Amino acid sequence: MGKFILRSKAVFTGLEDFPRPAAIAVVDKKIQAVLPWDYHRDKDYADWPLYDYGEKMIMSSFLDAHTHLFSGAIDGSRYVCSDLGKGCSQAECVKIIKEFADAHPDYKRIRGSGWFITNWGDEPLPDKRLLDEAIPDRPVYLTCADCHSMWLNSRALEEAGIDPDRKMDNGVNVKFENGELSGLLLEPAACEPAQKKYMEFSEEEMREIHRNFQDVLADYGIAAASEMFADDYTEETMKKYDILKNLDEEEGLKAQIFSYMKLFGYTEFSKYFKFQKHFDSPHFHIAGVKGFIDGVTETYTGLLLEPYTDKPETCGEGLPLWPERKMKKEIIAANKAGIQVRLHCIADGSVRMALDLFEKSAEVNGEHGLRNTIEHIENIHSDDLDRFAELDVIPSVQPYHVTLAANGKVNQIGEKRARLQWPFRTLLEHEGALALGSDYPVVTIDPFTTIYAAVTRRDDDGNLTSTNSWEKISMADTLKAYTSGAARVYHVEDSMGTLEPGKMADIIVLGGDLFEVDKEEIRGMKVEANYFEGEKIR
Ligand SMILES: [Zn+2]
Repeated sequence: MGKFILRSKAVFTGLEDFPRPAAIAVVDKKIQAVLPWDYHRDKDYADWPLYDYGEKMIMSSFLDAHTHLFSGAIDGSRYVCSDLGKGCSQAECVKIIKEFADAHPDYKRIRGSGWFITNWGDEPLPDKRLLDEAIPDRPVYLTCADCHSMWLNSRALEEAGIDPDRKMDNGVNVKFENGELSGLLLEPAACEPAQKKYMEFSEEEMREIHRNFQDVLADYGIAAASEMFADDYTEETMKKYDILKNLDEEEGLKAQIFSYMKLFGYTEFSKYFKFQKHFDSPHFHIAGVKGFIDGVTETYTGLLLEPYTDKPETCGEGLPLWPERKMKKEIIAANKAGIQVRLHCIADGSVRMALDLFEKSAEVNGEHGLRNTIEHIENIHSDDLDRFAELDVIPSVQPYHVTLAANGKVNQIGEKRARLQWPFRTLLEHEGALALGSDYPVVTIDPFTTIYAAVTRRDDDGNLTSTNSWEKISMADTLKAYTSGAARVYHVEDSMGTLEPGKMADIIVLGGDLFEVDKEEIRGMKVEANYFEGEKIR
C-alpha cells in the first residue's frame, strides 16, 4: 500500500463523454484526487511515484452486471471442452467431444459446453445415440450455449439418476417414442440433476477452478461479477459458496462477487438472511434474489404478448415458468423484506409481466429504492418503454446476444416486433440508465467483444446482425453502462464505477484509446494494467 499517481492523455472518468488528459492520485485502496495532467506544479504531489501511460486510456474497471460465475468458472477451466460452439452439426459436436475425451483419459466425467442448435441448420434436436457410440464408457454432459438445455449420453443419464417421470414445475425430459429417455433435457428444472453432476468437483479442484477464474477476471479488467443461477438454500449451495468465501478470506478475491438466490417458492426470507450473514466477506456477497419468467425464443419458451409469427398457435410454451399469482406474492414479500429482485425476461410478454409485478410491489411497498432489474429484454412493446424510469427498474442487457441468432429471430417474431429487438438505444433514451453485462458463460466474458457488439451491432465476422442497426449506442454510453450502470445494480455506486475522489481505486489501463481506435480494433483491445483496490494485480 502507499500512494502513487497514474497519468495519461486519455482518462475516461465516467463523468464526461470523452477521455481527457488527467492524473489519478491513489492512496492505499482509494482514489484521493483526479488531478490535472500537469499536476506536478502542485508541490503536494512532488514526491509521489508516477506511472505515466502516455496516450493509453485509463478508466474505471469493468463491472459485469450479469454473469453465471460458478458454471462460468468451471466452463473456463481445463475440465470442460468449450469448443462445441464450433460444431455445425450433431456429428461434428460428437467428434469434438470424442477428441477431448481421448485427450483426457483421466477425467471420470466428460464435460462440454457451447453446442447450439441454431448453428446446425435444419438438423433435428440431438440425442444420446451418437454420443453412446463415441464415448460408451464414461458419463458425458454437454450444456447448450443458451444454458437452458443439456445433452447427455446413457452413462450420464444413469449417473445423474434422471427419472423419466420426475414431476417438475417446468422442464422436459425428452423421450423417444418408446418412452425411453432420449438424452436431451430442456429447461433448468429438467437439467438440475445433470447440472449437479456437471458442477461436482472435489474441494481442491474447485479451489483451483475459482483461483484460475479470478485471474481471468483480472486479465479482462473486471472488478465485479455475479452469480445469476438463482441457487436454492441447500447444503450443496452452502458447500459451493463456502469455497469462494474461504478463498476470499484466505487468499483474497480479485473482484467483488454478488450472488442472487432463488426467488420462486419463497415469501419468507429467514434462510436468505441466514445465508447473507454467513457468507458476507470482503468480496463475496448475497445481493438479492432471481427468478425466471420465461426461457428463450429459439425453443418457443420466450413469452410474447402476441403469438409467434412462425408458430401462430402459441405465445410461448408452458409459460410463465412460474404461476403469476405466486410471483406476485413472492416479489412483494421480497421487496418488503428489503431484498432486490432480478427477473429473467426474454420476450415482450415477460417484460410486461415483470413490470406489472414490480408495479404491484411499488403499490404495496412504496418507494423502496431496491432497483429491481429486468434481465435480457430481447424485445419489448413500445408501451412499456417509459415504465423502467417510472418504477426505478433497471434494464440489464447483454449486447453480445445481438450476434447470437442474427436475423433468424425475425422469422420467429416478425419484422414489426424485431424493430424493438435488443433496443439498447431506445431503452437508454427512455430511461437514462442501462446496465451492461456479458451473461458469461452463455457468451464470452471478454468486455471488448461486448463493447464492439454494443457500438456496432456487428457479429464476429463484422457483419451487421440485426434488423435495427440504429439501436447501437455510443462508446461513452457503453462504457458508462458497463461501469456506473452496473454499479447501480449492485448498489455499489458510492464506491465503484467512476474515477472520483473517495471511490475504490479499481482502475484499468487499456492498450489504446477506445475512442480513437478503428472500430474493428475494439475487439483486440487488451487490458495492459489492472489496479484492484489500489493494488496492481496485472
Ligand atoms: Zn444469464
